[in-house]
Parts: sequence; structure tokens; C-alpha cells
Amino acid sequence: MAPNSTRTVNGRDYTIVDHSYDVVVVGAGGAGLRATLGMAEQGFKTACVTKVFPTRSHTVAAQGGIAASLTNMTPDSWQWHLYDTVKGSDWLGDVDAMQYLVMEAPKAVYELEHYGVPFSRTEDGKIYQRPFGGHMQNYGEGPPVQRTCAAADRTGHAILHTLYGQSLKHNAEFFIEYFGVDLIMEDDGRCTGVLAWNLDDGTIHRFSAKMVVLATGGYGRAYFSATSAHTCTGDGGGMIARAGLPLQDMEFVQFHPTGIYGAGCLITEGARGEGGYLVNSEGERFMERYAPSAKDLASRDVVSRCMTMEIREGRGVGKDKDHIFLHLDHLDPAVLAERLPGISESAKIFAGVDLTREPIPVLPTVHYNMGGVPTNFWGEVLNPTTDEPDRVTPGLMAVGEAGCASVHGANRLGSNSLIDLVVFGRAAAIRAGEVIDRAASIPPVNEKACEKIMARFDRLRFADGGTPTAVLREKMQRTMQEDAAVFRTQESLESGVRRMTDIWAEMADVKVTDRSMIWNSDLMETLELENLMANAMVTVTGAEARKESRGAHAREDFQARDDVNWRKHTLSWVNDAGEVRLDYRPVHTELIADGIDIAKIAPKARVY
Ligand SMILES: Cc1cc2nc3c(=O)[nH]c(=O)nc-3n(C[C@H](O)[C@H](O)[C@H](O)COP(=O)(O)OP(=O)(O)OC[C@H]3O[C@@H](n4cnc5c(N)ncnc54)[C@H](O)[C@@H]3O)c2cc1C
Repeated sequence: MAPNSTRTVNGRDYTIVDHSYDVVVVGAGGAGLRATLGMAEQGFKTACVTKVFPTRSHTVAAQGGIAASLTNMTPDSWQWHLYDTVKGSDWLGDVDAMQYLVMEAPKAVYELEHYGVPFSRTEDGKIYQRPFGGHMQNYGEGPPVQRTCAAADRTGHAILHTLYGQSLKHNAEFFIEYFGVDLIMEDDGRCTGVLAWNLDDGTIHRFSAKMVVLATGGYGRAYFSATSAHTCTGDGGGMIARAGLPLQDMEFVQFHPTGIYGAGCLITEGARGEGGYLVNSEGERFMERYAPSAKDLASRDVVSRCMTMEIREGRGVGKDKDHIFLHLDHLDPAVLAERLPGISESAKIFAGVDLTREPIPVLPTVHYNMGGVPTNFWGEVLNPTTDEPDRVTPGLMAVGEAGCASVHGANRLGSNSLIDLVVFGRAAAIRAGEVIDRAASIPPVNEKACEKIMARFDRLRFADGGTPTAVLREKMQRTMQEDAAVFRTQESLESGVRRMTDIWAEMADVKVTDRSMIWNSDLMETLELENLMANAMVTVTGAEARKESRGAHAREDFQARDDVNWRKHTLSWVNDAGEVRLDYRPVHTELIADGIDIAKIAPKARVY
């Protein structure tokens, strides 16, 4: 760490602290911590910068579990896991990345076990595995497979605490409650660092590094009702957009079938995995009608759409007939207490129900972003051109929900995110071991790039318009909720693009009241809002352009999947004026290893 210096921006002094690391990871959720640990284990001088305390990252809230074909409780194989993931993705995922994921998954889970994750156990001491939506035996023929490894319903909590402990053991350095503002980019397109603001003392930190890893999580908070934490504001996506790089497949936003009505908190799919089921106002288990084979364990996009149709057709429950009931009251209370203690508590606190006696009121709620920063399956960020769709951005990686490898394609299967975090966090570290030149010196700070970042920071700090950040944020959230939801039409999406464009223009009138540098949550929320806006803008624009239905993107005016014209990834760039440019890149359809006949995973109708 260099001694402090001072920089003047618009006549105002900022205290600057410079750091040099081999690797800087931005984010300390499951993905960031697994990458941090992997980098530090190899002896790289590694810093992890995080805006919240590591174990408060959204990963802590993951309940249901982590998918891997361990065969502890039913027959299983990576081939079946691959089939389910490909089908879940509605044939938009990249086959190479998906195959890497499912083949590495068991290894990654055993590693977690050895690091100390306290998994639930079977009678004979093996890792307990539960059924989850869309995970089946025999290439989708069924019955459901038990593939999701769980630590009761607190799996993410267990993983996060274990990885944080391990990272400290390997001397990774943590910069906690530091807000990453922007990437430091060179004119030739390399990334050489990241600039961050220490929320606690107001100093500005410039981290120079040979490799920057974005692990900043999703952007669920672009919507009004989301299961994700208030910190899930797509900061990595905002940084990528400002660096002139594209985001990928952003129109695919997953709604989880069972958010608690009103509160939005999640009731894990593990609840249906343990035998829970949904009913409408007529007491009917309607999923049997829509998905005769998988029933309540059909894929999330499918279940969310069926619930929405039931409500629209007047069979919703409650006073306003606007939600659905989830029954767990038929299950043995001892099983509920052992396997689902966390959601028993959530149901009590947020819905006021005792789930051993009454159903839980639920509604599809924004849960996961399939889109993100395009990467290859080593986590390296892509900067595609028409001739070179897989061109790599030197010095930059992205992992976890912020990234898009793409293993989830148009729809993610439950418990496939936690495995994505650890498999690709680990892959990024393995790749860094190959591409980082240990003998080279760490790049110097790009003063010019940093001046530009600070000019924006200072402008927002002193923003003196007429509209508070919270007002603009709510406008954005309501627009996304209304116009880019479970079902979409040309009309709703055009309206969404128009309204978002207007809100983007209104951002010029934002008002920040607090001018201080210390714990200025007003300024931090404004920086987050700019990031959310970039993510939301490309989400609705990409959705308007995609004239088909695929996975979570369900268009009422284009109800079929169109593989001829649309089996391709959307790339979207957004500039400072909020103008979006779209382009497309091919889906990877090649396997990376033998063991499965490619015909097994060829596109076909997606029925459960
Ligand atoms: C309620 C809930 C339950 C879920 N359950 C499951 C499940 O059972 N199984 C499953 O597979 N998936 C589940 N998911 C999905 C999965 O948990 C998430 O996709 C995953 O945890 C995301 O991890 P991450 O490491 O990418 O990001 P996060 O865990 O969201 O962490 C993001 C990190 O980035 C940091 N950060 C962000 N912006 C900045 C910035 N500007 N500067 C510095 N630091 C920054 C934050 O401090 C944080 O450390 C669930 C999701 C939710 C919301």
C-alpha cells in the first residue's frame, strides 16, 4: 500500500490510497469467495473488495441446496444432469460450459465438504440430497432424481461461512464495506484494476492488478418485488456497460414460483422437493394438469406461468384472488423441523402462518438473472466482435450471478446456481494460474482513467436536481414489474422501453442530499441506481427485440420457441445517453468431452 495522496476534482480534495495486487476480486458471495480462495491458495497476492461483510452477501440466503450427481440417494449421472440443464436452459445455454459444470460439480461439492461445509447426512453418513424442480432421472423420463445437496434449508449460509474462513486461512486480504465504483480500463481494452470508495472513512482506493474478477451478483432489485437482498443492484453490469463492454441474454429474468405473497421472501423449491404442492381457489392441485409428469417439480418458468394463468382465469386465492396456496401441512412436522426449519420461521414471520397447520400464500417473484457479463467457461470476460465472437478481454473475469458463461441459458434450474458459483469460482482461479505472468510487474495506475471515474463520482455526490434517488428507483422498479414480467407482449415491452428511456433522462435531475464521504448511503444508493438502470434498460430492450418465447422470456404474441432465428445469445451495449445497441452471438453447441451422444441433447419440445 502506497502512502496517501490527494487528488482534486472540481476544486474538491479526495484522499487517495493506491494498492497493488496480483488479483482483485470484487464481491464476497459464494462466487467471489471461491475465486478468492482459489487465487490465494496458489500464492497470488489477492484482495477481495466487498460492499457488505462477506457473510452478509446474498448467497447467505440460499436455502434449498447445490446440485451435483453424487448418487447418494438415487441413481444419477453427469449425463442426466447435463440433459436436465440443457433442457432447463431451453437450448440457449452453451453446451461446453454446461458440460464443464456438470462434470466438475461432484468434485466441487466434495471440496466444499472437505473445507468444512456441514451438509445434512443420510442414515449411513453420506451427503443428504433432495429432489428439485426440473432434475430428473433417465434423460427427463423420470422419476425425479435426488441431486440437490443440502445443509437443511441453510445451504448458502453454510457455504459462505466455510469459504470465508478458508480464504482467511490462506491470507487473502479483505477490504470490507468498500464500494467498487468502476473498472480501470486501458485504451487497448485491457483491465488493469478497480477503483473503490471506503464507505467507513471516505478514502478512495485504486487497486492495480494483473487480474480483476467481478463477482458482484445479480440485479433483482431492478424489479419491485424480488427475493434478492437490497444489495443485489447489478453493480458489475453497470461497470461493464460504462467500460463499453456488452452484457448478454439480459432479457431472461427468472421468477420463482413461491415468493411469500406481499413480502417477496423466498420459500425454497426444496419445500416442493420435500412433498409440498400448490393449489388454486378450487382446492385443485393444478400443476397435475399442466405438467403431468413433473407436476409441482416442473421447471420454475413453467410453474410461474401456470400460477399466473390460474390467477388470471379467476382461480387465485385470497380476498383479491391474486395469489396461490402452497401446502406443507400434510407433511410430518418432524420432517419440517429437520429439513425446512428456516422457511417454517419465514412463513411465521412474513405470512403469519404456522405451516404445519395452514398453507402459505405465495406468488411468482423475481429471483434470478440468467443474463450477465459474457464469459467463456474459464470465467474470462468476452468482448465479442462479429468475426471473433469469443474474443477475451485481458485482465478481466466474471463469475457467479454477475456472469453469464452461459450455463443457465433462458432459464436456470434450482440448485444450479450454487454449483455454478463454486465450479466457476474455482475455474477462474485455475485459469488465472495459467494466464497470469508471475514474473511481470503489476500494471501502474492509469491516472487518466481514474480521473474520469472520479469526475462521475463527484458529479453524483453533488447532484442537485429536483428528484430524490428513491423516487426514481421506485419508478424504475414499477416499470420493470409491470412491463417486463412473467408474460410479455410487444405492447408491454414497447411501453417498458419508452418508460425506461424517460426515467433515464430524468436521472439528470437526481438529487443527492448528503454530501459527506463517510457512510453516505444516499450517494451509494445513487451509484447503485445508475447500475440498476443500465441493467434494466438492456433487459427490457433485449426482450422487446426477441420475437419468440424461450425459457423465462414468455411472449404472448410469439408463443413458440424459434430455433431457426433465435437460438442465439443477445449482446447489449448501453451508452451514457441510455441508448442501447443490440447484436447477437452464436450458442456453443459442441461438447468438450466424450461420454454422451450429442443427439441426446439436441433441441426438442420442452415438456415436463
Ligand atoms: C433467497 C434466495 C435463495 C436462493 N436459493 C438458492 C439455492 O438454494 N440454490 C441455488 O443454487 N441458488 C439459490 N439462489 C441463487 C443464488 O443464491 C445466487 O444466484 C448466488 O448466491 C449469487 O452469488 P454471487 O456470489 O454471484 O453473488 P452474491 O452472493 O449476491 O454476492 C455479491 C457480492 O458482491 C459484492 N458487491 C456487489 N456490488 C459491489 C460493489 N459495487 N463493490 C463491492 N462489492 C460489491 C457484495 O458485497 C457481495 O459480497 C437463491 C437466491 C436467493 C435470492
